[in-house]
Amino acid sequence: MLLLVDLDNTLVDRASAFILWANDFVRSLGGTDSEAAWLIAADRDGYEPRESLARAIKERFGTDLSVNALVERLLYDHVGMMTMDPATMGALRRARNSGWRIGVVTNGTTAQQTLKIQTVGLGPQVDAVVISEAERIKKPDPAIFHIAANRLGVGLAGGWMIGDHPTADIAGGRAAGLKTGWVSRGKEWPSDMASPDLSADTAAGVIDAVILYGAREV
Ligand SMILES: [Mg+2]
Repeated sequence: MLLLVDLDNTLVDRASAFILWANDFVRSLGGTDSEAAWLIAADRDGYEPRESLARAIKERFGTDLSVNALVERLLYDHVGMMTMDPATMGALRRARNSGWRIGVVTNGTTAQQTLKIQTVGLGPQVDAVVISEAERIKKPDPAIFHIAANRLGVGLAGGWMIGDHPTADIAGGRAAGLKTGWVSRGKEWPSDMASPDLSADTAAGVIDAVILYGAREV
């Protein structure tokens, strides 16, 4: 049984780490709290391309830091502040004990995503990690889910994709023929998109619901 899971804001709490970092960083540039709020919005949960965000920071704060230096700071500074909810770790263990093979499928750079996984100690809890930069293919392209299934030696049929992004994770997973579980983080599902098979506020909630679903199917 195949269980593919997104990394940022699904397994790890990227949002809280980025907010902590952004507040410190903007203060170090002499900026105000409202400018930190601007940076957090402009980041779009990490979906804004790093170079474009670095240019916007440079323009707004007139810092001496180069765009390349800003990109590096955007990529790495908040990673050490990343955490994983112990409830999520527990749910992954229960899934594995129930026979699921677990693959992380994440968009991002190999260096940054690998560092996140090390920081929170996720590596031993999963069976494969597929990172878009290394595969030269990104979610929502269904090919990345096929790569993950191949790596785990499990077919896509009956498999699940869990994530927080309606397009990258849910539409992408569905296009690959997977069932989908949405981690809503308290948000409303966008009404113009086909709904996920199930959803919950947290990753642990979605993973436990998938385990229950799998137990009923057997
Ligand atoms: Mg995500």
